[in-house]
Amino acid sequence: MTQKKKLIAGNWKMNGGLQANAALIHALREGLGAPACGVAVAVPAPYLAQVQALVAGSAIALAAQDVSQHEAGAFTGEASAAMLRDFGTRYVLVGHSERRQYHGETDAVVAAKAQRALAAGITPIVCVGETLEQREAGQTEEVVKRQLAAVIEINRDRIGDIVVAYEPVWAIGTGRTATPEQAQAVHAVLRGQLAAATEQAARIPLLYGGSMNATNAAELLAQPDIDGGLVGGASLKAPDFLQIIAAAHHCQA
Ligand code: PEP
Repeated sequence: MTQKKKLIAGNWKMNGGLQANAALIHALREGLGAPACGVAVAVPAPYLAQVQALVAGSAIALAAQDVSQHEAGAFTGEASAAMLRDFGTRYVLVGHSERRQYHGETDAVVAAKAQRALAAGITPIVCVGETLEQREAGQTEEVVKRQLAAVIEINRDRIGDIVVAYEPVWAIGTGRTATPEQAQAVHAVLRGQLAAATEQAARIPLLYGGSMNATNAAELLAQPDIDGGLVGGASLKAPDFLQIIAAAHHCQA
């Protein structure tokens, strides 16, 4: 069976600096060759221009970590989708659990952000995921479906153009990864939900995120509904990120 191209996206979070960014992108470009999967890096907003220049002419796509739900105006500190577009941003994370947790982003806000991104021609990577408490209470399916439903509801016509990242909150930055079976089970639920909303569900990339690393990536990426990874900590080390990209490569049919 021919599989679709996988996507490996790095999330630098609030890390980096002019020199470190240059060194990291240089090392990635050196090691990348012509990857069989899509590759993106989500960088802090102040570095979009720098990284846009660093990745020019390479297979690395530029991503942002957040976008305003508003189009323009008196929203101090925010960056609009049009501004991100000005720097060649191809993807933007929306609804990362750290945004939901520390900035009070609701499902409705996340959905509006996805809508702004789509309107500007940027692909939103919609992050969903349950907390440990919710998993232990047997609420995983209900939580991720509620989070995704809000995005589907106001983006019905464009839902085939999004990327979804399943990131169990208890696995982010903790070194505790979901097992391939746990991740696949949730991805299958999300695929089913998307299939009820669009005929294009099969082509929507569903990424797994949460302590993905060079050692566990291949097994996760081999699952039928895991179309790639959203990688935090390991994306800051070129050899690790390159190994994850290589693992995605080997999962291609
Ligand atoms: C993330 O920040 O999206 C993430 C998955 O982080 P980590 O890989 O470090 O768990």
